[in-house]
Amino acid sequence: MTVLQMPGAKSPGHELLDSALSQLARAAKALDLDPGLARYLSQFERTLIVALPVTGDDGRLDVFTGYRVQHSTARGPGKGGIRFHQSVTLEEVQGLAMLMTFKCAVTDLPLGGAKGGVAVDPRSLSKNEVQRLTKRYTAAILPIIGPEQDIPAPDVNTDEQTMAWIVDTVTMMTGKHSPEVVTGKPVDLGGSRGRTEATGRGVAFVTLEVLRRQGKRPEETRVAVQGFGNVGSVTARSLAAAGCRIVAISDVSGGYAVPAGIDIDRAIEHARRNPARTLEGLAGATRISNAELLALDVDVLVPAALEAQITADNVGEVRAPIIVEGANGPVTAEADRALTERGALVVPDILANAGGVVVSYFEWVQSRAQFYWELDEVEKRLEIYMRRAMELVLAKAKAYDCPPREAAFIVAVERVAGAITKRGIFP
Ligand code: NAD
Repeated sequence: MTVLQMPGAKSPGHELLDSALSQLARAAKALDLDPGLARYLSQFERTLIVALPVTGDDGRLDVFTGYRVQHSTARGPGKGGIRFHQSVTLEEVQGLAMLMTFKCAVTDLPLGGAKGGVAVDPRSLSKNEVQRLTKRYTAAILPIIGPEQDIPAPDVNTDEQTMAWIVDTVTMMTGKHSPEVVTGKPVDLGGSRGRTEATGRGVAFVTLEVLRRQGKRPEETRVAVQGFGNVGSVTARSLAAAGCRIVAISDVSGGYAVPAGIDIDRAIEHARRNPARTLEGLAGATRISNAELLALDVDVLVPAALEAQITADNVGEVRAPIIVEGANGPVTAEADRALTERGALVVPDILANAGGVVVSYFEWVQSRAQFYWELDEVEKRLEIYMRRAMELVLAKAKAYDCPPREAAFIVAVERVAGAITKRGIFP
C-alpha cells in the first residue's frame, strides 16, 4: 500500500527521527557535551537493509524490505521491537532505535538501543504468509542479533506469536535452543509473566503518579486513549481499574465515545472476537473520528497508536492539559513546543512507555538464567524501576527548569555519553 503524502511534507517516520535528533541536540547543549560525542550519538552504529522474498499462498512471489538498526550499544546489547507496518521506512526505524537507546538509559537498564521493521501491511497476508515473512526476516538479520548483541521484541502488528517464530528460526539455524534471543515470547516458551501488559501498566502508573502529584483523584479524571492494541488497551484497562473514566478509545477503524465511561473489558473482548481484531461495531458508543478523539475535552489524553499524531496542524485543537505518550513519538517537535508554551504537561515516551522494555530486560535476565519469576515479583520490580526513573526525571526538570521531555533526555544522554567516555574510543 502506498502512503499518500503531500509533496514536500515529511513522512511521520522522518518527523520522529527529526524530533529525536532535536531532543538529543538540546540535551547535548544543556550538558555542554563534547561536540564529537554529540555527533557520534546522532549517528547509528549499524544499519542493515534486507530484501525479503516471500512465496504467497497462491504461489506468487512478493518481495518486502526489512530493516534492523542499532543506534548505540555503549551501555549493553541493542534492545528494541520489530514493527510490521506499510509505512515503515529507514528514517522511522532509525528514530525508534535512537529513542530505545535513551529509553533504556533513562530507566538505567544495562542495554543499548535498536529497532527493526518490515514495510508490509500484515493484514493483507494470511497467517502462514506472515510466518514465512517473519522467518525469512529473522534469517536475514541473524548475523547481527543475539542475546549478547541485539535482542528484538514485539512492536506494532507483532506479538508473542511473532516472537515464537523468531525463536524457532534462530533455534533451527543455530542448532541451539535460543529463547533468550528475543523478549515478549509466550510464557510457555520462556517469556516473562507480565511482559504483555508491562507497557500499558507502566503508562498507567506514570499517569496516576502525575494525577497524584497534581492532587487529582482518578475518579474525577476523564481519559481518552488513541490506539487499542497492546499498549492502548492495557493502559485503558489499568486506568479504568484505578477509577478513571475512559470516555473515548480508538483504533484503525475509528473512534468510540461514551461520556459516562466505556466498559473496557467488554471493548477488549469485542476486539478479540472481531475477525478484523478491531473495535468496529462496538455497541453503545458514539462514533467519532481519530481527529475528534484528539480534540476532546478530557483531563488526560494518551496517544498509544503511531508517531506524529499531534502535529503543528492539529495541536491547536488539543484541549487535554496532560498528555501521556503511550506510543513512540506521537507528538512532533513543533507540536511539543506549542503544548509546552500553553502549559500542558507532556509525559515523554522514553519515560511513559518504558515499562515494556523494563520487563523485557527482566525476561532477558530470566531466559538467560532459565529461572522464572512470579508475576508479583515482576510487577513489584517494574514499579521500582518506573518510580525511580520518574523521580529522577522530575528532579532533573526542576534542576534545569525544563519540561520533563528535555529532562529525560538530559538524564539519558548523560548516561550514554558517560559510558562511551569511560570505555574510551576504540582503538
Ligand atoms: P499494536 O499493533 O498492538 O496496536 C496499535 C494500535 O493502533 C491498534 O489498535 C491499531 O488499530 C491502532 N492504530 C493504527 N493506526 C491508527 C490510527 N491512524 N489511528 C488510531 N489508531 C490507530 O501496537 P502496540 O504494541 O500497542 O504499539 C503502539 C505504540 O506503542 C507504538 O508507537 C509502539 O512503538 C509503542 N510501544 C509499544 C510497546 C510494546 O511493548 N508493545 C512498548 C513501547 C512503545
